[in-house]
Amino acid sequence: MKADPTAQRRLLDLAALDAELARAQYRRRTLPEQTAVEEAETTVAGHRDAVVRAKTSVSDLGREVAKLEQEVTQVRTREERDRGLMDSGSVSAKQMTDLSHELDTLARRRGVLEDEQLELMERLDAAETDLAHEQGELETAETTLTDAAERRDGVLGDLDVLEERRGAERTELAKDLPADLVGLYDQLRARSGTGAGELTGNRCGACRLEMDRSELRDVAAAAPDDVVRCEQCGAIVVRTATTAGTS
Ligand SMILES: [Zn+2]
Repeated sequence: MKADPTAQRRLLDLAALDAELARAQYRRRTLPEQTAVEEAETTVAGHRDAVVRAKTSVSDLGREVAKLEQEVTQVRTREERDRGLMDSGSVSAKQMTDLSHELDTLARRRGVLEDEQLELMERLDAAETDLAHEQGELETAETTLTDAAERRDGVLGDLDVLEERRGAERTELAKDLPADLVGLYDQLRARSGTGAGELTGNRCGACRLEMDRSELRDVAAAAPDDVVRCEQCGAIVVRTATTAGTS
């Protein structure tokens, strides 16, 4: 293939734009900001579970407290009824003794229930403190996640702008160059990642490998408008003023 040497040299600009676009794509796939978002999401999920567990504890204990309260009320009602009977003076001496025994039993029972109630209230208190703590942790984790997502979106937004700008430049540049030359360049780029490289000294700019003497001789003998290819990587070897000066 033949192509105007100036057009060949502009392939290097195209290659530079493509390299920048490839770097942007790589950056997009390997964003540390994205990793931070995923980590923050895991943390938030962990705290959400902890809040659910703490809420369950609080409501379970609350139910138990209510149940005990009901039992205590029942005992109290019974005690009041017994006392009422004793005070009424309408019961026999035998019934008085029985009622007095029952009141002792009820008082002991109430004592046990009230101790249990106290212990449960303490546990409920602790569970409520725990819930408040977990809710605080969740809020902090959610703020961290929001910040991380904002940072990631900011970086992605910058990449969008860069890709759009460089993409437009690339389209413009490719339009200016001979279609067959750009076609070959694109084909080579799809195959090895780089379509063209500058010959610097005896090194191919695409694969960075040195050319041997016979290859260099062929390159030197080629007409300026010959499209020369690297024997190692296949990329178009672009000869520039630098090339002429150093080889
Ligand atoms: Zn090469």
